[in-house]
Amino acid sequence: MSHIPHLINGERVAGNGRSAPVYNPSTGDSTSAVGLADRATMQLAIDAAKAAFPAWRNTPPAKRAQIMFRFKQLLEQNENEIAALISAEHGKTIEDAVGELKRGIENVEFACAAPEILKGEYSRNVGPNIDAWTDLQPIGVVAGITPFNFPAMVPLWMYPLAIVCGNCFILKPSERDPSSTLFIAELLNQAGLPKGVLNVVNGDKDAVDALIEAPEVKALSFVGSTPIAEYIYSEGTKRGKRVQALGGAKNHAVLMPDADLDNAVSALMGAAYGSCGERCMAISVAVCVGDQIADALVDKIVPQIQALKIGAGTSCGLDMGPLVTAAARDKVKGYIDAGVAQGAKLVVDGRGLVVPGNENGFFVGGTLFDRVTPDMTIYTDEIFGPVLCIVRVGSLEEAMQLINDHEYGNGTCIFTRDGEAARLFCDEIEVGMVGVNVPLPVPVAYHSFGGWKRSLFGDLHAYGPDGVRFYTRKKAITQRWPARKSHEAAQFAFPSNG
Ligand code: NAD
Repeated sequence: MSHIPHLINGERVAGNGRSAPVYNPSTGDSTSAVGLADRATMQLAIDAAKAAFPAWRNTPPAKRAQIMFRFKQLLEQNENEIAALISAEHGKTIEDAVGELKRGIENVEFACAAPEILKGEYSRNVGPNIDAWTDLQPIGVVAGITPFNFPAMVPLWMYPLAIVCGNCFILKPSERDPSSTLFIAELLNQAGLPKGVLNVVNGDKDAVDALIEAPEVKALSFVGSTPIAEYIYSEGTKRGKRVQALGGAKNHAVLMPDADLDNAVSALMGAAYGSCGERCMAISVAVCVGDQIADALVDKIVPQIQALKIGAGTSCGLDMGPLVTAAARDKVKGYIDAGVAQGAKLVVDGRGLVVPGNENGFFVGGTLFDRVTPDMTIYTDEIFGPVLCIVRVGSLEEAMQLINDHEYGNGTCIFTRDGEAARLFCDEIEVGMVGVNVPLPVPVAYHSFGGWKRSLFGDLHAYGPDGVRFYTRKKAITQRWPARKSHEAAQFAFPSNG
């Protein structure tokens, strides 16, 4: 069985000690083992990043950007191989894996603009013979901790931007599907990145705690579940680090009575069941305003759920693959059991799905609940599986109150033809990313990504302009070159232009 190593100072490193199995979720077989770094291994990466920093921070941004241009080309040339690696360990379909990679590449394209985004600000003559400017300087050694569900895209939200801003980076990917992440990092080294600027260290809580506790690590970007996001935010900020920690979600789609139902159903199918529901922007609740639209939705969506093409993600032309692990499958089935026990109406039951030829894969079929109420765990919790819940309400105001009362606030959307309703929704909904007739409103790379409430801990969103703010610190410089022979008396009043 192959062993997935770390990437430290430009070299593959086996590391000591523990390892964890990695599975092909479509077959249920363990296909490799990934090293779980101990503190000594993590320290090697921290030392390498620290040693690389002085030269890298002084490398002109245009040269840093040239490496990103080559990286983008290599990512595009290796698209098929990367998609196959993602699918083999995550389980998502090849087409979905390609989509994830393309969204990741958009972040590399944004990073290619390094000379432009790092220009800073300049003011001449802020006082007599005094000029002032603001520099955007790198922070130093920064780290990213990423989830299993986007092993290519989420790391690409972080390190291309951090690196072009002049930082050195340590990435701790998910231990459940680390191969594509490592492959991609090696492409960046091939593109000409100096050794030690990007290091990838596989591991679990021990590796993460080593990053939190290391005084050399100045900032942490985290994407994953809410309890771990909260832990990393509180432990990191307690130690004076800059932290942005993105957490879990429960994303609602509001269906107004005037919605274009056929298109809304297509949108819901992709947003609820794409990637087997394992997306932080997946729609898991359809809030129907009125029984009429709810009944019509059930009539139209049930046959489409029953017709979902489900199989090994690595085969082409499918709608949905398996869940990532046996534990994830069991957790999702447990929630479906709970929904039934708590009185929701189970309209389509995915628990019994068997995929011929892949009987041991971690599959759950598309599932639909109707008449879900806010006290049920299938409503309160993030299930992270192919389960859509319908909640019936009487008005848009009631729908918005429901969403605003939920602890998560990552994404949401409204399907309507009514501009006034859409505008009210955009203004008053307490959610960080909002779609109007767009089911997965994931911001493009030149905007920034982030939720509200318990979906994000910290002030700055991920990537885009907020990413630049997160990975740089401002230095304001005020400079005076007085005329050679002028003499100035001491001034005891606070300096001003008044
Ligand atoms: P997770 O929280 O289990 O793991 C995320 C990372 O944290 C992994 O690298 C993991 O090794 C590490 N980790 C796990 N337990 C830890 C612990 N006790 N201490 C320190 N580190 C620990 O999340 P996951 O299951 O990999 O990913 C799914 C979750 O991520 C979902 O909740 C999903 O909503 C969320 N997610 C959020 C976003 C977003 O942008 N808000 C994006 C993608 C995924």
